[in-house]
Amino acid sequence: DEAGNIKVVVRCRAFVQREKDRNADCLIRMDPDTQMTTLFPPVPDSRHNARGKIYEEKSFTFDKSFWSHDTHDEHYATQEAVYHSFGEEFLDHNFDGYHTCIFAYGQTGSGKSYTMMGTPDNPGLIPRTCEALFSRIEDEPSPNTTYNVHVSYFEVYNEHVRDLLVPRTDPPYYLKIRESTTDGVYVQGLTDQPVRSYKDVTRLMRMGDVNRTTAATKMNDTSSRSHAVFTIMLKQIQHDLLSDETIERCARMRLVDLAGSERPKSTEATGARLAEGGKINKSLSTLGRVIAALADPARQTPGRSRKPKEVVPYRDSVLTWLLKDSLGGNSKTAMVACISPTDYDETLSTLRYADQAKRIRTRATVNQDAIT
Ligand code: ADP
Ligand code: MG
Repeated sequence: DEAGNIKVVVRCRAFVQREKDRNADCLIRMDPDTQMTTLFPPVPDSRHNARGKIYEEKSFTFDKSFWSHDTHDEHYATQEAVYHSFGEEFLDHNFDGYHTCIFAYGQTGSGKSYTMMGTPDNPGLIPRTCEALFSRIEDEPSPNTTYNVHVSYFEVYNEHVRDLLVPRTDPPYYLKIRESTTDGVYVQGLTDQPVRSYKDVTRLMRMGDVNRTTAATKMNDTSSRSHAVFTIMLKQIQHDLLSDETIERCARMRLVDLAGSERPKSTEATGARLAEGGKINKSLSTLGRVIAALADPARQTPGRSRKPKEVVPYRDSVLTWLLKDSLGGNSKTAMVACISPTDYDETLSTLRYADQAKRIRTRATVNQDAIT
């Protein structure tokens, strides 16, 4: 058993074209020595935000602060640096037999998809993890160790689960969620595709991304309004010649690109899109309540508080029900809080969310069975 806190990191992206065009100010500073992230008020003389609250300088400290704002800065964090700082460590955990989960949180356009999937020229955590996974398998020195890799890819959209590895036109369009004592929470009938090489995985990732539900919003044309969950199952089979015993280790890595965390109003969505926003917020707002319940100090000191433990509302949304294990159970988990350098309100909300997530503890166990 290994109990530990969720690892929380923050990443600030570069200006996008529309911010350059309006000569936007960067409101974020990161201190490379202390890992402190500071958010500054927009302009010196505007003291109130749209809701009449006072703008203040706010500082937060996370496990790691990634400064990906200015490529010319000596502290600029590349995609590779982000992968090296914890993606690699999480892959080590998988080979040790632990489940892991990395999820990206933040407003639309803050760099979640860039961090998780990246671009062909600058691949993100998911392709880098898959590539390293297969190169480790190829480098396995023992002829008595074999590996078995499967991937699945689904999205949660409007509280519905859709398989991203089947074409959009093929029924069933929505899959059901089940919970069993042996398998935990799972998506019934989800494609579980065996893969033998990194090339196999890239093909599936591309297919999934094409199938992902996207709609243009004013803020970010290619942004997605869905939560995308990419899962890799790694099975490691070790045969000990001396004892003639076979040991099977199963690790699941979940890589989650959440929908934008902003309130619907800021994207100026209307009509059907707004209604859709409401339901997306159900999964995200439930995630907020789950994080709050898990971060509750009463939960952190068992038996010492008189306050009864709050029930964690996992089952109130599709996303939290499916991520139950990853959020509060058998998993080593990391959150990447992605922030825009120019939006005080949304960035503050993301930093507060991340600050709360730091208090969550999970308890990971090695998933190992002896086969006779
Ligand atoms: P999200 O998925 O959170 O909506 P994206 O990942 O699509 O946001 O990022 C929005 C835009 O910013 C994209 O054009 C993306 O390429 C760019 N971007 C995001 N993060 C970075 C970064 N660290 N460095 C450079 N460009 C980035
Ligand atoms: Mg995105």
